[in-house]
Parts: sequence; structure tokens; C-alpha cells
Amino acid sequence: MGGEKIETKSLEYAESIIDTVREPLIVLDQDLRVVSVSRSFYDVFKVKPEETVGQRIYELGNKQWDIPKLRELLETILPQKAFFDNYEVEHDFATIGRRIMLLNARQIERGMGKAQTILLAIEDITIRREMEQEIKRLAYHDSLTNLPNRMLLNDRLKMAKGQSDRNRKKVALMMLDLDKFKEINDTHGHHIGDMLLQVVAEKLTGVLRKEDTVARFGGDEFVLVLPEQKDVQTAMKVARKIINTFRKAVVLEGHTLIITSSIGISIYPDHGENVDTILKNADSAMYQAKQAGRNQYHLYSKDDWDGPIQSEPHL
Ligand code: GH3
Ligand code: MG
Repeated sequence: MGGEKIETKSLEYAESIIDTVREPLIVLDQDLRVVSVSRSFYDVFKVKPEETVGQRIYELGNKQWDIPKLRELLETILPQKAFFDNYEVEHDFATIGRRIMLLNARQIERGMGKAQTILLAIEDITIRREMEQEIKRLAYHDSLTNLPNRMLLNDRLKMAKGQSDRNRKKVALMMLDLDKFKEINDTHGHHIGDMLLQVVAEKLTGVLRKEDTVARFGGDEFVLVLPEQKDVQTAMKVARKIINTFRKAVVLEGHTLIITSSIGISIYPDHGENVDTILKNADSAMYQAKQAGRNQYHLYSKDDWDGPIQSEPHL
């Protein structure tokens, strides 16, 4: 009788500690039945108290807790390790939606030959993850057009180069600069100019395949990366398509605007053996397109180089 009293007291004591912890906690017995949970567990996971204690964990909230990764932790990992920190579980709960959780699990032995108890602390990191992703998105995208910025472009270019080195297919790079864009700003204001840049971003995205990248390089300049090209002709076809898409007038706040672009194309590995050279050569090809009268594309050739004339080295 006395022993039972002590047991009840220590259980009450343990539960009062559990309740003060902010993060949801579950205490399980060796059959994975719930011995007790913290109050925050009910609040966070919208599980009813009367359907919790004595149930197997997988049964909770209409079997919402029957999660394969949780089964793996409780049935395979814990019996071998006795504890596990920061075990990540992502799950779509019927009542509260998709959640990313970090579980800290402890297997505790209660005295000699006594049954095992499992303590499971649950940290909901869904919002933290969303914020991390948003920060990453902001760091890698241009805020006006939402296109990848130079930093992400660099990553994509390196990836495309690596892929091309392995599969021997070409990468086409296009440098596109809008023609006389200053005039749009001067005539209609910066605000209309900004909106037009957004329309241009949409037009370019519409022309590309999902494996291609269009990035805002800065100002009115965009860079397109088209991996997996079998020949130069396909890249030129895309350039023609872009020039065609620009033919259609854009109406913004009652103003009808016609915008054209000049495109320089360079091909990896034909026109350079690294990302910087390919970018530089696409830029000088774009310059050629401007020089030739704008509203056209130009494929890089080494004769395009427009710096000071150097004598050929004597071999
Ligand atoms: P070109 O045909 O030689 O390219 O002439 P351009 O008038 O387009 O001149 P350029 O490409 O050298 O300069 C781009 C201009 O784009 C400079 C600036 O006035 C404008 N610009 C750059 N960034 C922005 C922006 O974020 N919003 C707006 N509205 N205008 C911008
Ligand atoms: Mg321009």
C-alpha cells in the first residue's frame, strides 16, 4: 500500500516537471504505450487527452502518429542506441498540416530489472525551416523579378559545366540586354521601367525549358543558361524565339510599349574552357549584336574581340 503511495507521488512529481517544459514531451512504456504527455503536447498536436494515455503512440489522433520514420526510431534505433538527438521527422498531420520536427529520444531504465521507459521530446522546427528557406531565397534571387541573381547564376553555371564535362553535351549561354531601355524610363518613369523588367522576366521564363536558367544579371541585362544542347543551332533557335516573343507590344497602365533586345550567345566548351570566359564571350557577342543595329542575336566568334590589335605571337 505504502509503496503504491510513493509511486503515485513520484509520478505526480514527474508529471509536474514535464508540464513545465515548453516543448511537447511524451513518455512511453516498453510496449510504446503512452504513460504521460506534457500539456503542450495536447496544445500543439491537437490530440484529445482522453484518447491519449494508455494508447500506443501510433494510434494517437486517429493514427496520425503512425509515421514510418518514428517507427524506425522507436523500434530499430533506440533498442540499439538508448538515445538519439535531433532525429528529424517530416510529417503531414491530418489536423495541423505538414510539420518538421526534431526528436530527442532517451531510453531510461527504471531500476534493476524494471521496465524501460522512453522519453521523447519534440521540437517543432517548421517555422525555423521556412524562415531559413526564405532567407536563402532572398539571398539568391533578384527582388524585382524574382529571378535567380548573379550568385545563383554562378552556381547553375558551374553545375551545367560539370554536367557537360561528364556527358559531353554543350551548354549555351546567352547574354541579353534590352535595347534603349533608358528611353522607357525617361519617357514613362522608373515605375513603368520596373514593371517592364518584370514582364521581360516572365517572357524569358516562358520560352525556356525547366532545366534552363534565366537570371537577372543586373540593370536591364539577363543571362540564360541552356544545358544539354546537342548543337549550336538549337541555341540560335531559342534566341530567335526570344526575339519573336518581344515583337508583341506590352501594355502597362495604358501605355503601349515595344521593347527589343540584343542577345550574345557563347557555347561551352566551344568558346572557352571556364565559366568566366564563356560569360565574357557572351558579353562581347552581345556587344556585336548592339553594334550591328540591335534587336538581333550574335553567336560569338573569336574574331569578335574588340580590344587593341595584337600581333600574332611568333611560333
Ligand atoms: P542599350 O540599347 O545600349 O542597351 O541602351 P540602354 O538605354 O538600354 O542602356 P544600358 O543598357 O546601358 O543601361 C540600362 C539602363 O537600365 C540604365 C538604367 O537607367 C536602367 N535600369 C537599370 N536597372 C533598372 C531598374 O531596376 N529599374 C529600372 N526602371 N531601370 C533600370
Ligand atoms: Mg540596355
